[in-house]
Amino acid sequence: MAFYDFQNSFLGLRTKIAKARSFILGRTVGIDLGTTYTAVAYVDDYGKPMILKNSDGQATTPSVVFFEPPHYSVGEVAVQSTLTDPERVVQFVKRFMGLKEHRIRAGSETYSPEFVSSLILRKVVQEAEAELGESVTAAVITVPAYFGEAQRHATLEAGQLAGLQVLRIINEPTAAALSHGVLNRGEARRVLVYDLGGGTFDISVLEMDNETVDVVAVGGDAYLGGKDFDDAIMNWIEDEMREKYNFQLDNDASFEAELRLKAEAAKRQLTGRTSVPITFKAKRAVGSAEYAEDPLVPIRLDLTREKFEQITADLLARTEILLENVLAQADLGWSDIDQMLCVGGSSRMPMVREMLTRMSGKRPLLHDPDECVAKGAAVQAALLSGDDSIEPIHVTHVLAHSLGVAALKDGKPTVDHVIPALTPLPCSQTREGYTTTLDGQRSVQIRIYEGESPDWEAYPNGPLGVFNLEVDPPRPKGQPQISVEFRCDENGRITALARDVETGRESRTVISLAGERSRQETQHEEQLMSLAIIS
Ligand code: ADP
Ligand code: MG
Repeated sequence: MAFYDFQNSFLGLRTKIAKARSFILGRTVGIDLGTTYTAVAYVDDYGKPMILKNSDGQATTPSVVFFEPPHYSVGEVAVQSTLTDPERVVQFVKRFMGLKEHRIRAGSETYSPEFVSSLILRKVVQEAEAELGESVTAAVITVPAYFGEAQRHATLEAGQLAGLQVLRIINEPTAAALSHGVLNRGEARRVLVYDLGGGTFDISVLEMDNETVDVVAVGGDAYLGGKDFDDAIMNWIEDEMREKYNFQLDNDASFEAELRLKAEAAKRQLTGRTSVPITFKAKRAVGSAEYAEDPLVPIRLDLTREKFEQITADLLARTEILLENVLAQADLGWSDIDQMLCVGGSSRMPMVREMLTRMSGKRPLLHDPDECVAKGAAVQAALLSGDDSIEPIHVTHVLAHSLGVAALKDGKPTVDHVIPALTPLPCSQTREGYTTTLDGQRSVQIRIYEGESPDWEAYPNGPLGVFNLEVDPPRPKGQPQISVEFRCDENGRITALARDVETGRESRTVISLAGERSRQETQHEEQLMSLAIIS
């Protein structure tokens, strides 16, 4: 097979070695950096994972930031600011992690997702330190299981920018299972974790006993979570207003923010009630015929649980399909699943457990849904820092997505997979048999792709990394024997290596550190961070 060379598409990849401090002073914690809520936990002197409450006495802090540089408010205050200064507030930043060159507007400036996340991390660590009475220097941070390399790396950078030594980036469902497993040691079992949070949906199947936690399958959707259920209520309100009151709502950002808070509150209440009223002063669209006489109208809409379930049935069905896919991918049936853990705030919706019961014939556990991910991360942090208050348990982390290179297969460009998804980390794999397409070709370009499809057009974000190997001396086409090796460490950090077998010439790239962020940008952010006053 020959490399598929994309002319002129060589990206000058920078590599940068993360500065890892080699020793740990102070406490280590676990941080669940969620799309909507962030939580911090540590392992106490008795080996028990405990949540560190914030200064409001809450176990979780909204992942929302209000910008007034150099002042930044994180949490509930920022949520309230959506009512007054929505354009200065950033929410759901996790959805943008790892997107190349993505900028988020807040006020008159724009910021990287890494920077916004680091403000959230800094804030929760600050409060954790106040609660502990000790400084926090190192952390394990969690990410959804389906997060790819770019997203994991962005999370790592956010942690470092917040001044933390990031001991490891681990999967949220693995953390949830670890926390459950440590607190409920028992016989070997296969556990399915269903994590429906605020902005993301994450599934993993794990095999665990008292000594080990192994990941068997993962799946999910980065764009499916509580927010979508809120959106459905927002749409319903708009439809009701139009149909029942012949009323066109004003699409003013503050008003929308107010409605969104009410929609979310209604959704939460529907967990325990069968109907809730949503009341607000409806604002007519500015300039509409009725606006002049009556811009505000008091409204009460009643949302029943039945209606709510009807308008969100498609969202729940998406989780059902993803579940079936994950089981199929692991070649498992429901009878192979011994236990189901529901985590994430949105798993509280009764329809989630009803669906799981219907699908599996078993009752799922709603296990500590807001705290278990942070607690599991804290357990992992304690294990990594050699804390002997905790009984050792070995957690296997796996590669989230297959890794491959662009190659010509029977004359057609394809992505040839070198390491399959779910391979336990650390791992390395070499594939031989690549060669050149032209006589006298002096170099080959190696384009690395992350994902499952053999069709390279199925990778809209392009390759994860690109590097060249010199072919010296040049030889007739098809003659050079080139091998490609991938090495992945336990954080999923990937090193790719190409070798000319005949000459021994090598070329390599460290993918996870080859982010598109320039040194200039990161230096600017470090500067902003050093001046930041976070409350
Ligand atoms: P993330 O990890 O994505 O930040 P969480 O797991 O903290 O999210 O879950 C937050 C989501 O859970 C929010 O969308 C919130 O509206 C939703 N949620 C919390 N409690 C309930 C409830 N009782 N019923 C329905 N949704 C809920
Ligand atoms: Mg979560």
